[in-house]
Amino acid sequence: MAAFTSFSDFSEGSTPDFPAGLPVARIGLDAIRDNWLHLSSLAKDMPPMAVVKADAYGHGVEPVARTLVKAGCRTFAVGCVDDGVLLRKRLGESGKGVTILPLLGILSARDAAAAVANDLLPAVSSAEQAALVSRAWTGETPLPVAVKVETGMSRLGFRAHETQSFIEALRSLANLRPALLLSHLAAADDPAKDATVAGQVERFLAAYKALREFWPGMALSLANSAGLLARDTLLGSLPPHIARPGYALYGGNPFAGTTREALGRGLTPAMTVGAPVMGVHDLATGQTVSYGCTFQAKRNMRIAVVGAGYADGFSRGLSGRGAVCIRGERCPVLGRICMQMHVVDVSGVPEASSGDTAYLLGGEGPGAVSMDDLARDWGTIPYEVFCILGKNPRVYSA
Ligand SMILES: *Cc1c(COP(=O)(O)O)cnc(C)c1O
Repeated sequence: MAAFTSFSDFSEGSTPDFPAGLPVARIGLDAIRDNWLHLSSLAKDMPPMAVVKADAYGHGVEPVARTLVKAGCRTFAVGCVDDGVLLRKRLGESGKGVTILPLLGILSARDAAAAVANDLLPAVSSAEQAALVSRAWTGETPLPVAVKVETGMSRLGFRAHETQSFIEALRSLANLRPALLLSHLAAADDPAKDATVAGQVERFLAAYKALREFWPGMALSLANSAGLLARDTLLGSLPPHIARPGYALYGGNPFAGTTREALGRGLTPAMTVGAPVMGVHDLATGQTVSYGCTFQAKRNMRIAVVGAGYADGFSRGLSGRGAVCIRGERCPVLGRICMQMHVVDVSGVPEASSGDTAYLLGGEGPGAVSMDDLARDWGTIPYEVFCILGKNPRVYSA
């Protein structure tokens, strides 16, 4: 797969252009900005933080963060500490006063030193992690830290039974000031699991109350995209808090296909992925397509060869499934996906020709491939589609 493109590939106002043989992801920064403004308007109590981990879900962390800073975003969540360091450097002057929170936390003394040196908000899940940060911090005033509590993911965060010992450990580290309590919702996107969410909220609030006794000014952050969109239903009992939308920022509707689908209207997908049509040919009855000859024509057909394969992140699992969009029409994948190519059926698109764009994701007209269509054919979720297809060269429009 192509390496991440650097910021030099970011040019505002550039037009989509699909060089032969390469799929290209086109990112609409205007969509991301609009989604941000929409989500901010839903988060009535406190401005949300933008989740830009994993290179902004494949959309490119620097252009996305720059766009959001301009739109008023002051807090970003990244993955590891090194991602935070990179974002801090890339934002430069424009990042003044911007908080960067590495969600994966402080895993080593090196992480702690890098977080402190680059003005990141360190997240700690244990007394050991807190001690690493405390040792790295030599400033005069206590350093604000985020603390993670485990409420239902069974991943990071201190466990409920550790609450008192964790508080005691934090109190003994006088040069730290717990400033933000974090936890993560496991099933907020599933309307059948409201009780699960309620249980998480209850455990989160119990931890908050215990910590608040010692650090009364602490802020809270719990909601992901689904939690924010369904805030009134799911999180009514929470005091004002900072939501952490990721998926919705990129136009994903976490409630697609559920009874709460309408909550995600008003979000615009930001990523389109196109690849060049490299040739259009007749396929006679009985002829086969691609490795293993798994597709054999039952009638005379027209086929197009598309310049995108599994090396470009167009998964081999889409062999014989899925479809691309050419000239507004849905064109099913025939046979196996190759390393850098695949073949589709263009029998229904008589004008299809070399040089057309085949949209792996997006496109115009009735044949447009939605993120949910593609993820379903792929056997995954759009989050993964973004992360993988976003590793291709990217062009941006503002
Ligand atoms: C990824 C992530 C989010 C954002 O979740 P979305 O479903 O993309 O909105 C929020 N919080 C944490 C801890 C995460 O890892």
